[in-house]
Formats: sequence, C-alpha cells, structure tokens
Amino acid sequence: MGANVSLSRAIEVFEHVAATYPGYQYLRVLQSHWKMVANVSVRNAGSWAGNLMLKHKHPEFPSDIFLTLLGAGAQLTVNHADSPSAIQIDLEQFLQTDMSKSVILSVTLPPLTQDEQIRTFKISSRAVNAHAHVNACFKMELDPTDGYRIKRKPLLLFGGINPDFIHAVQTETYLVNKRLTDVVTVVEAAKMLGNEMKPDAKPQDTSPEYRISLSQCLFYKAVIGFLGNRVSSDIRSAGSVLERPLSSSEQDFDMNQDTWPVGKGIPKLESTTQISGEAVYLDDIPLLHNELHGAFIQSTVANAKIKSIKPSEALAVPGVVSFVTAQDIPGRNSFVVNAGGRPDSVFVGKRVSYNGQAIGLIVADTRDIALRAAKLVQVEYEDIKKPVLTIEEALKAEREEMVMNTLTGKKEPYTFGNPEDALKASKHKLIGEIHQGSQFHLALEALAGRVIPIEDGYDVFSTTQWPTETQAAVAQVLDIPAHSINISVRRLGGGYGGKISRENVVVTAAAVAAKKVKQPVRVTLDLSTNMTLVGFNDDGKFESLKVDMISDGGYVANEVSVGFLGSRLQNVYYIPNLLFRPIIVKTDTAANTWCRTPGTVEAVATVENVIEHVANYLKKDPLEVRMVNMVPPAVPRLMASPQERNVVKEDILPLLKQKAMYSQRVEEIKIFNMENLWKKRGMSIVPLWYQHDYPPVFSYGIQVSIYEHDGTVAVSHGGIEMGQGINTKVAQVVAYKLGIPIDKVILKASDTMVGANSIVTGGSYGTDLCAHGAKVVCEGLLQRINVVKEAMKKTGGKDPTWLELIKKCYTEGVDLCQRYWTAGKEHPDNYEIWAACCLEVEIDVLTGQYLLRRADIIEDCGRSMNPYVDIGQVEGAFIMGLGLYTSEEVKFDTTTGQKLTNGTWVKNAVDYYYFLPTGEPALCCSYVVVTALRNAITAFRSANGNDHWFDMDTPITVEKVHQLCGVRPEQFMLSAKEESSPTDFSFIIKDQIPKENSENFCPLN
Ligand SMILES: Cc1cc2nc3c(=O)[nH]c(=O)nc-3n(C[C@H](O)[C@H](O)[C@H](O)COP(=O)(O)OP(=O)(O)OC[C@H]3O[C@@H](n4cnc5c(N)ncnc54)[C@H](O)[C@@H]3O)c2cc1C
Repeated sequence: MGANVSLSRAIEVFEHVAATYPGYQYLRVLQSHWKMVANVSVRNAGSWAGNLMLKHKHPEFPSDIFLTLLGAGAQLTVNHADSPSAIQIDLEQFLQTDMSKSVILSVTLPPLTQDEQIRTFKISSRAVNAHAHVNACFKMELDPTDGYRIKRKPLLLFGGINPDFIHAVQTETYLVNKRLTDVVTVVEAAKMLGNEMKPDAKPQDTSPEYRISLSQCLFYKAVIGFLGNRVSSDIRSAGSVLERPLSSSEQDFDMNQDTWPVGKGIPKLESTTQISGEAVYLDDIPLLHNELHGAFIQSTVANAKIKSIKPSEALAVPGVVSFVTAQDIPGRNSFVVNAGGRPDSVFVGKRVSYNGQAIGLIVADTRDIALRAAKLVQVEYEDIKKPVLTIEEALKAEREEMVMNTLTGKKEPYTFGNPEDALKASKHKLIGEIHQGSQFHLALEALAGRVIPIEDGYDVFSTTQWPTETQAAVAQVLDIPAHSINISVRRLGGGYGGKISRENVVVTAAAVAAKKVKQPVRVTLDLSTNMTLVGFNDDGKFESLKVDMISDGGYVANEVSVGFLGSRLQNVYYIPNLLFRPIIVKTDTAANTWCRTPGTVEAVATVENVIEHVANYLKKDPLEVRMVNMVPPAVPRLMASPQERNVVKEDILPLLKQKAMYSQRVEEIKIFNMENLWKKRGMSIVPLWYQHDYPPVFSYGIQVSIYEHDGTVAVSHGGIEMGQGINTKVAQVVAYKLGIPIDKVILKASDTMVGANSIVTGGSYGTDLCAHGAKVVCEGLLQRINVVKEAMKKTGGKDPTWLELIKKCYTEGVDLCQRYWTAGKEHPDNYEIWAACCLEVEIDVLTGQYLLRRADIIEDCGRSMNPYVDIGQVEGAFIMGLGLYTSEEVKFDTTTGQKLTNGTWVKNAVDYYYFLPTGEPALCCSYVVVTALRNAITAFRSANGNDHWFDMDTPITVEKVHQLCGVRPEQFMLSAKEESSPTDFSFIIKDQIPKENSENFCPLN
C-alpha cells in the first residue's frame, strides 16, 4: 500500500482485501481499529505514513497505526535520498532509523496462517477524537486442538505506557507453549504483565494504576476473545468490546396552530447559512486594508512578581508593529465593570495571579507574525510561589469567604425550619461529600475582539453575550465616553456564559492596541489560548439537611454561582429543615466564569447524590426514596413559592415510566446483569424542578421598523443570537402580531444603539423578554396602523393588502418605527419548569468504557413557541451535561499552575404565549448519567460482595468507572464456576463506609 494513501482509503482497501484473499481476514481487525482513529475528516486527509512519522518524531505518541501495523508484521519500504535503492524494514527498525532525507514509499502486509489470531484495542476517553489512554495488540499462534497452546512467542504490544515500552517481553516469553484454557496461566500472565508495566506519570494522563490494570484487563479480554465459545456464556462478555449500534430517536411535541407562526415548528432562520458556512462570525469579517493582528504573551507561572519584560527580539521581527502592556492603558486596568465588580486586569501589573494571564500583546501585520513574535518576548519572574490550585489547598490557606445571603443581605447561611434540632432528633444521620469538577469553555467560536478607530470613537466587534458591559469595559479601559463606542454583534458561535465577561479581556486588549497604533486591531484566540486565559469557570424521608457548598472562584471571585442555588438545592423534594452555606474560595487560577445553568446544575447534582446515599444506606431503590420525598402541593419551601401541583410526580413521571417501559426494562437489566459477569447495565431516573425567577435588572431594548417601499420589516433587539434561536422566535412573534408571512421579517445585528443598556443574554431570559418586547412594539405599531386600515376599509369596502396599508400609512405621515424597553417592573411572577429523564447505561467493567443505551427526556415547555428549536435546546443542553459529567476534567501542573487540559482531543416573561424556556433546565437532568453509572457499577460491586456507599466525584471518566469496579487479575476466570477472589477496592481513596452518628458534620464550622 502506497505511503500517500489516506487512512479512510486504507480502511476501504482492508475491507476489500479481507473479503477477497484468504490469509488476510485479519485486516478486518485493523479496519475496525483504524475507524477509531481521530474522526472522519482527519482520516480523509491524513495518511498512514504521516501518522508513522509523527510516532517516529514523538515516541510517546500512542499511535494506533504504528501499533496495529507492528502487530500485523508489516514491512516498510523506505528510500534515502543518497541511496540508489529502497530498503525494507519492520516497524521497530523504523523507529531506530534516521529518517532525515528519507521517505516512506509503501507498506507490505503479510498473510497470516489460520492458527494466527490477532486482537487489538484502543481505550480512550471518547469514541472519537481522543488519543488512546492505552492501546494494545495481541497476536498469538494457537493450537485449538491442544487447549489453545501458544505455539511460538506471541506478540503483546502496548501504547500509552511510556515512550519506550512496546513489547511485554517477559510475559511474551512466559507464554510460549502455555495453554490459554489453563486459568492459572492466564492469571499468572496477567500478574506478570502488571509487574512488567512501568507507566510514566504525567498529570494530564490517566493514572499509572489505571494503565497497569487496563493492560492486564485487555490481555484477559484478548484471551477470552481467542477462546470464544470455549468459555462459559456468562464470562463471554469479557471478550467483546462495547460497540455503539446505529442510533435512533423519536421526538414528540404539540404544535398549537391557533397562534401560527408562533408555536409552529420551523427551522431556525439562520440554519441554512450556518450549515453552508455562509454565516458570518467575527473572524469571518474581511480585513480592512490597514488592519493589524494581536497575539497575547501569557504568564508561564501562577503566583509571582514580574522582574522584567524584554520585547526587543519580538519587535525586531519584520511585520511587528508594537508591543502593548499595562503601561499603555489610559484608563483603569480592569475589563470588569458590572460583572461582579472586582477588578480583573487586562494586562498584568506587577504580580501575576495565574498561569496564562495576559502580560502584553504583540501587534503585527499578520496573525501568523504576531503569534510567532509573541513567543520571543522574554519575561523574567521573581518571588515565585507554589500555586494554590484546588479547593482543598485554598481552604488550608484560609482563602474562603461566605457568599452573601440574598434573603438577609448578610454573609450567613440560608436556613429553613430548624435544621440543628431536627438533625439531633433524627434516627438516621449521614455525612457525605461530592466533588464536581470545573467545566470546559469550548464554544465553536473562540473569544475574539476587533476595534476600529473612527472619527468620533471606535467601532467595536466582540464575541460578547453582553454588549452593554463590553461597551462599559472599553470605555473604562480607554477612559473615553460610552457614546463614542459602537458595538455590533451579528451572532455568536455559542456562548453558554463564557462570553458574558471573559471576552472583554480580548476586546479591551485590542482597544488599547488600536488606540496606541491608531489602526484597526483584531485579536482572535485559538482554542488553547482561550482555555488558558479564561477560567471556567426507616422510609428515607428527609428530616434535616445541612449543606456546605464550596466553589472555586479563581483568582478573583466575580462570578459566583453558589450564591444562587439556595432554592434549587431542594429540586422536586420537600426538605423541612435545611441549612445551606455557600462559600467561595480563591485559587491561583484564571477567574472562573459562569457556564449554562450556573448553580442549579451543582445544586441538583448535590441533592440527587444525597438521595442516592440515603437509598444505599437504607438498601432501598433510589426511585423509592425520590418518590417519598416529593414536595406535596401548597407546602412552603426555602425561597420557592408553594406549588398547586407537583407536575413531575403527578404527570411527568407516570408518563415517563410508561414511555420508557421502565418496569419492564428494570427486569431485563436484572437478567442481563445476572448473565454477564463483565458487562453491567444500570438505569436511573432524575426529576427536575427549575424555578425561573426574573431578576428586575433583566431588560432589553427592541425596535421594529417597517419599510414603506415593500412592506418588509426589520427587527433589532438587545439580545444576542448565539445558536439558541432567539431571532427565529422574535421573527415568529412579529409575523404573528402583524399578520404577515415570516419571510417579510428580518433580524438585524444587535447593537448598542437599539439595544443600549440591554442586559446580558443568558439564564434563558433573552428570548422570553425580547419576544415580549417585540409583541408590545407590534401592538403599538398596530394601534397607529389600524386607524388607517379602518379608514381604508370604510372607503374601499374591503381589507387593504399589507403593502397597500403600509404605503397609505406612509403617505399619511404615520411613524412606521417603534422601540420598546422591557422594564423589570413588567416581569411576570416566578414560575416553574418541570422535567425528568430516564437513562440506561452499559459499562465494560474491564476497561471502564460505557455506552448510553437509551435516554428518555420529558420536559414541560408550556406552549412551545417553536418546537423544533425547543427540542434542539433540550437535547443540546442534555448532551452538554453528559460531557460535563463524564469527560470535562480540568488538570493543572501543580508546580507552575499551567492548565494542561487546553484543547480537544445545554410561563415566560410574558405569559401571552405560555411558553417555558428550554435553554438551561435539561442540562440539570443530565446528572442522570452519574446515577445510572452508579447503578451499573453497584451491580458489579454487589455481585462481588461490596454493598457499601462509594463517592462518585465528577467527571466520571472511563478511568473512574474502572477503578470503582476494582478489578484484579485473580478474578480472571474462564468459567463462572471457578472460585474468584474478592474485588479489591482498597485503592479507591474515597470509598467510604457510611459514618453513622458522625459529629463532624460541617467541616467549616
Ligand atoms: C484531531 C486528531 C485526532 C487524531 N487522533 C488519532 C488517533 O486516535 N490515533 C492515531 O494514531 N492518530 C491520531 N491522529 C494522528 C493522525 O492520524 C495523523 O495526524 C495523520 O495521519 C498524519 O497524516 P498526514 O498525511 O496529515 O501527515 P502530515 O501531518 O502531513 O505529516 C506528518 C509528518 O510526516 C512527514 N511525512 C508524511 N508523509 C511522509 C512519507 N511518506 N515519508 C516521510 N515522511 C512523511 C511530513 O513531512 C511531516 O513531517 C489524530 C490527528 C488529529 C489531528
């Protein structure tokens, strides 16, 4: 196969050859392994030879191509520039060959004999786009007539252990002439393998313990696969890997025809331009002839004083125009005005507060030059202190602070009932801890800012969810009046809270540069800079609950979500006595920011975890404990208005159980788990009560302009379109109110003229209030227009057309434009959103990998304004939550504080339409992935004699699932009748036995 063949083409070739030529059936194994490499587009563009060369240059790269070709016994044909003929080398020789001035020409794959068997594995955090934690290839020549005797030295190959480790040499030697049907051989070989592995320990990788255990488990998997039907049926699940079947989905919703196009399911107005790539995002705006580019210089330590900054080398690079620092800021060195209020510097002053903080900006003719030159700026530090990176370290350093109680206005706990006395009187007491990790801020469009000096100020383009705050930030930093700053936002490629305040560091830096060089400056972050510059941030009935919620605010705690989760902590439950202490700690990391449904996500997870803990303690079904605690009608709760009905209990859960065939599937899961020792299924239901309350400050400006030329209508509002469909819903309202087709309505970019003083778009308020504003504007316009219409009807005897009417209005001097401000005093009372989700998962105990088999979500959306958009929002929020709870693991270098996870590898304001927001609630339901995984892990642990409670700190990665199962080689059986050793849970640090009657309830008392 030629070197220039893409991975995709190679996969096709493997399929064809395997089906055509005897001896090459094994290529099916390579084919399915190569399908796990990267993603379709990388496989279409990337070649197998390029992959091997990456492995050659970076031996630590766990290349799947290298491993599988080595296992297959492939030979490479390589030609050196100075050599007359090509040479043939195997893959291990290739790694030792000096490849400078050499080129790979082709690869030759040999046929295998019938007795030669090959199995390969790739274990990674996700199915696609993730490098292997460990990959492995096992090749053995077996004699099936003699107990599957290994006829000659087998191949046991591994990637991801350490840069030099490829062969498990000792185990390969040990296995020669051994029989795979001998369980002692299998266990001994696995133990030997474990001893042979010397995994390196890198903070961004999975733990050495996991990788050792994985190598042993994969070996066992391979053996069971080779033996096939020779092992008993309940063991066979060890041999297979989890394969995701073809997915299918069903969406059910009502469409209320009486208000169409409001309530009609229509695609998002912008969807066509978005999928065709024509939609313009900030960095798609064509460059002006004199536009410059900025690139940040970021600190490489977390807590230190800046000794010196030397930009001379960078400034000498042709094309570099300027170097901008804190000294160039004419105004206040803080890009925060209203978002929390505490200063957050644009550029470091004297002392660095976190690794990745902006020190300065190189301004150059092209982005490429700016990026290259920025690397040449030399920064010296002194007084470098060990960074405080975790909540535990921050508590030890006494960096905690109680968050203001919004009910009392004091820094004190929220209290409902009499939690202390109720706790003393309670028969059962439990104490527990739940750690929830930070979230990735990974919007499709990274943060960007573009500032153009104009004759009376600046035109500013920003990836902002809050143009008003951005305008104020630029005004503050440049020390110029707000009226001289014009901000326009066409759309955002995702926001989720990460663009409420954090984008302002980018745009204010661009503004300082634009002012200094008097030219337009654009700063667009790549994903890695984006992620380092910005932080992300006897019946089981409750008698009393005390909760300390400690949150990491980063180096400046402006955006605190623990403060607004008091009521949400109760979810759908009645907790008669509740004490809740929201605490914030400061760490030497970037200031953490809000992310979709801040606070509620954590609150729901906390109380659902408590439910699970109580259920485990009482040995009850968690759903039973959920049901017994459901809030009854008309009962007062902390910061929540009493409900007429518990919609989840009375309507949603019965429907969900019926639609999801819950009871039937519970039984099926029991049977599956009995029949399969190494694969376990789990199912759980998480209900949701989400109180939607309207802070008075949430207000937006909306303007509707009708053009007399053709009767078309343009709308602008202070909300921001970021994929949630706000523009589509506003257009639907305008079309409905004016009685015109929706294609006569167009939405313009949001700007600081019409949208002056508008609040941030977030919290599921934007669509609600802007749609309301549009409705009021249209009603105002209609009052004037209808006077003319009535007169025309009288004289003409019939209704005029829309165009006739508008033309007449124009000639009669009627103002066809109107603006409205959705003042806080008009906000409706708080209202509730109810939902529930049922999720089934399957785990592969031996690897920790899991599949989500089926999810059923029911959410009360009221009368949806647009079911297509709302279903998309519910599904998107749920999926986003799955990512949060399973894979978003933020890791830091403990010495420098560097963020190591910096790349890839979600009844309304106006009850007129009776719709309920869908942007945020469903994300909270996604905690069900944790409870369902708990259910599956518990099935394995219980089958192995351990019913104790265990903590599940999120994210629940494949590593954690595997570790919580606690597998040991001694458990490797070939028949379930063999006696197995007990599961070893000793290395799971937080595996706790419930501490009854613990006095140490509130650690911060
Ligand atoms: C998002 C992403 C995910 C990925 N996931 C995986 C994964 O899961 N598993 C995995 O194994 N890999 C993975 N990869 C690596 C991927 O397979 C390689 O990047 C790709 O195959 C490289 O091929 P290329 O043709 O683009 O090589 P290039 O990037 O063009 O070349 C790489 C190097 O090889 C040299 N080179 C190319 N061809 C030859 C030749 N014939 N002779 C000598 N030198 C040559 C080039 O000069 C260059 O120095 C991933 C990559 C990406 C971007």
